[in-house]
Amino acid sequence: MRRSRKVKILATIGPASSEEAMLKRLFEAGADVFRINMSHADHKLMRTLVKRIRKIEGEVGRPIGILADLQGPKLRVGQFAKGKETLEVGQRFTLDDDPALGDRNRVHLPHPEILASVEPGHRLLIDDGKLELKAIEADGRRIVCTVVAGSAISDRKGVSLPDTVLPVGALTDKDRADLDAVLDAGVDWIALSFIQRPEDLAEARKIARGRALLLSKIEKPQAVRRLDEIMELSDALMVARGDLGVEMPLEAVPGIQKQITRAARKAGKPVVVATQMLESMIAAPVPTRAEVSDVATAVFEGADAVMLSAESAAGAYPVEAVATMNRIAEQVERDPTYGAVIRAQRPTPEATGADAISLAAREIAETLKLSAIVTYTSSGTTGLRAARERPQVPIIALSPIVDTARRLSLVWGTHCVVTEDARDLDDMVNRACRIVIEEDYGAPGDRIIITAGVPLRTPGSTNMLRIAYIGPDGRGNR
Ligand code: PGA
Ligand code: MN
Repeated sequence: MRRSRKVKILATIGPASSEEAMLKRLFEAGADVFRINMSHADHKLMRTLVKRIRKIEGEVGRPIGILADLQGPKLRVGQFAKGKETLEVGQRFTLDDDPALGDRNRVHLPHPEILASVEPGHRLLIDDGKLELKAIEADGRRIVCTVVAGSAISDRKGVSLPDTVLPVGALTDKDRADLDAVLDAGVDWIALSFIQRPEDLAEARKIARGRALLLSKIEKPQAVRRLDEIMELSDALMVARGDLGVEMPLEAVPGIQKQITRAARKAGKPVVVATQMLESMIAAPVPTRAEVSDVATAVFEGADAVMLSAESAAGAYPVEAVATMNRIAEQVERDPTYGAVIRAQRPTPEATGADAISLAAREIAETLKLSAIVTYTSSGTTGLRAARERPQVPIIALSPIVDTARRLSLVWGTHCVVTEDARDLDDMVNRACRIVIEEDYGAPGDRIIITAGVPLRTPGSTNMLRIAYIGPDGRGNR
């Protein structure tokens, strides 16, 4: 089973897609990685979903990535005596530390850390920005605001603070409990929500102890400002356009998407473009022209993965949404302009053996029109550096470690196969040829290029390139 595209598809699972048969259909339609949203799934459901995905993985014989998305510090107002209120632009409205039910003039804000850090002039965006308040006085216990835009407010609506750096870490108590549970269940990737600072990754990193990789969701202006430092400490990034579009002007989001995808490609770290990609397919079997164009843009930018949210989690057409994304990606990658657009953003190699070899492997493969680049990678690092080159030919990553294969399922252009380490050089070549044929990437008579580290079985030692001819018997011909 092989995909005919380089970009990966990340599908969020939810009520519309939790059953095993549906998960399998989504995989078959093109989902490479599944996202479990911990804002909605309890631990029992999460464990059930992980088991179902692992079972499908066994049946289809392909590694499937699982990303658990932690809710992060989602801030909410308290409750109102009447459940809701209608405010007027220009009026005063106060958020305070009094747990009494709210009215037209005030409401409880059950987050002492916000009360302590908002300063006059800061904006408070309620309910995804539908109501905008501006602080005019703040004394640590109450924030007096004016209503700038909008009118409706009701119980437990979310609060976004684009101007305030909050003195809270990225993990709440719920996140810590969720993190333990998802690590225990064996997920591959952890997504951290509302990251503000590089320090926000430290605690999750310490708890994970290498059992899963960390993806930082960039969804706050504070994080955009410190993108490079956050990227340095992250294993992957997400352009989380949902919350980004609440906290920043919507028209700023496309440029930020370009900035983040370029920076991630330069660093050689996977980047996911997320949210509202095929939004109308929640309720309709076909997307809008604008949505198709949006998915295409992310593919042209060379993003590692494009994501579906409610389209696959709660919509009426989850399979159609994945299949549509798959078709758009395949078509864009076949477009005559695609190669040039991708090449225009190709980063220069760093001065390491792995980068020099990845560059050389790509050039040789493209010059000689080889069928595949086969890379032996135990930790996945060499696979990532090969993908950073964005070669025209497929990358077949061979690893003896199933976790590596699952993690690489998020990475552009890599088809990962779990296989034992090669015993010797002959075995290395023969194994690569055999797998290329088995996985439908080549046939006897084709040539491939192999990268590996010699001595074999020494991680981090990629130092070898070998062009191999697949003989008539399917073995490497010398
Ligand atoms: P969410 O993250 O779906 O968890 O909110 C993605 C986004 O904000 O775009
Ligand atoms: Mn979000």
